[in-house]
Amino acid sequence: MSNLKKLDNDYILSTYARNYTEFVYGKNATLYDTEKKDYIDFTSGIGVVSVGHGNKELSEALHKQAGELIHTSNLYAIRPQAEAARAIVEQSGFDMKCFFANSGAEANEGAIKIARKYGEIAEEIKRYKIITLDKSFHGRTISALKATGQEAMHNYFGPFPDGFSYAKSIDDIEDIIDNHTIAVMIELVQGEGGVESLDKEKVQALAIMLKEKDVLLIVDEVQTGIYRTGQMLASNYYDIEPDIITLAKGLGGGVPIGVVMTKHKDILHTGDHGSTFGGNFLSSRAALTVLNILKKEKKSGELELTAIYFANALERIYLKHQHLFKDIVGFGLMKGLRIKDDGMLVKIIDSAHKNRVLVLKAGRNTLRFLPPLTIKESEIDEGFRRLDSALSSL
Ligand code: PLP
Repeated sequence: MSNLKKLDNDYILSTYARNYTEFVYGKNATLYDTEKKDYIDFTSGIGVVSVGHGNKELSEALHKQAGELIHTSNLYAIRPQAEAARAIVEQSGFDMKCFFANSGAEANEGAIKIARKYGEIAEEIKRYKIITLDKSFHGRTISALKATGQEAMHNYFGPFPDGFSYAKSIDDIEDIIDNHTIAVMIELVQGEGGVESLDKEKVQALAIMLKEKDVLLIVDEVQTGIYRTGQMLASNYYDIEPDIITLAKGLGGGVPIGVVMTKHKDILHTGDHGSTFGGNFLSSRAALTVLNILKKEKKSGELELTAIYFANALERIYLKHQHLFKDIVGFGLMKGLRIKDDGMLVKIIDSAHKNRVLVLKAGRNTLRFLPPLTIKESEIDEGFRRLDSALSSL
């Protein structure tokens, strides 16, 4: 057993099905292990390392920030936090304000609190119910877990907070809404659920229906946000204006951060919500730097070219291995291949790893690709060459 494996087994709770390759450094979409073997990273740490590993601009900004100030607490105004919030608001195009947290689940907790406070003060009947979708994933804290529409995840941890119900599909949401419903929370492309995109017209119709009923629309953009799907937010692509949006993952480029943003700017008052670490100097400097880098990538057209190049390479693999795959799903740099035989998913991921290309699973039958948004064409070519060998060897 490697030293790391023993250390990990001895001291870390075994909540993850872990691989014990020990990565020690990375350069854009390439990771290196202790023996300097290179791996092409089509996962970016599950959609997090948006500007690539070892990004010079990000590491220099963090280094400088760490040498000046890392943390003062939210008792004092934090310039990079305010500037990051402005960048998020301006780049999203939504007239909103932000609250900074530390993760996606925590951002969703904030969203639930904002919705519930809105439901409590807006009228005489207290409205508190939140509808989410089957197969959704909203995080691991108790409320975010309850909001997650996957029954298997609700084993053991009850009692959960009341007031969550699940719609089988977007078509069923209207029937479930009652006098106590305050919000509907959706991912526009379900990530963990299987890279499952919602239909654009249906989402737009849902947004209109919810507005008419004064039910809030919460869009969980923890995975889809920060240019992952090609636009700053998937909400931009779907051309909707949610009441509340949550962000995390790609925003910090690897530094933990979460954001809940809302157009209901006056719902929360002093003391209603808070976080010790949320949006401190270090994490908000990371967000600000990542947003600056990605804004340029988007504006120059580079992001779109990368997504097209990646999609073409993915399509070639799909066409070559038709016996394994039945569909290509997702958009931007959030893509998936649907697998014909569920039993092959783990085998494909393992074989890919042996061939030194990292890929993810999503749901039971989807091979998921979330590469850094800055991935180079040469890395895409090499990654798919390795994946091709991995698939051919099965
Ligand atoms: N929401 C979505 C859509 C996610 O994909 C995830 C994580 O995969 C989360 C929430 C939870 O985020 P975190 O793990 O940062 O708490």
